[in-house]
Amino acid sequence: MLANKLDITAIPAFGDNYIWLLTAGGKACAVVDPGDEDPVLEALEQRGLDLRYILLTHHHADHVGGVPALLKQFNATVFGPADERISFVNHICRDGDQIQLPDLDVKFRVLEVPAHTRSHIAFYGENAVFSGDTLFSPGCGRFFEGTATDMQMSLDKLAALPAETNNYCADE
Ligand SMILES: [Zn+2]
Repeated sequence: MLANKLDITAIPAFGDNYIWLLTAGGKACAVVDPGDEDPVLEALEQRGLDLRYILLTHHHADHVGGVPALLKQFNATVFGPADERISFVNHICRDGDQIQLPDLDVKFRVLEVPAHTRSHIAFYGENAVFSGDTLFSPGCGRFFEGTATDMQMSLDKLAALPAETNNYCADE
């Protein structure tokens, strides 16, 4: 039986990034934006976890860099945006999609939040939003590939989520 309470913990990486680790009481787990495989492998080994899902918000190396090495050791489904700069996504996510993580008994809704990059997405569910480099506690991410208007629209989308939603961003 799965405990259906999702547990979200931070794995620190690169000094100021967070890789989010999702578990639900069993061995199955998911990670969000594993830019570096080493801290993830260490956390999985320490806790005896099996990586089943990888969620990617955008193509930057500090978010996807660890994926190839993780896929060598784990047969995980990789959810991510439609962007040719990420070659290893095997489940493409578009705005409004519901994605299912059956081994964790959770679903997330995909929100397209372009601006930091043109294909940036966020994952919302379980009172949590994984916003990547879009929304940080002190403000929003840099507009590398979008305009202030794009960012405003993306932030409006995130702001429209219920007030009890916790924002899990990728950097301090
Ligand atoms: Zn980024």
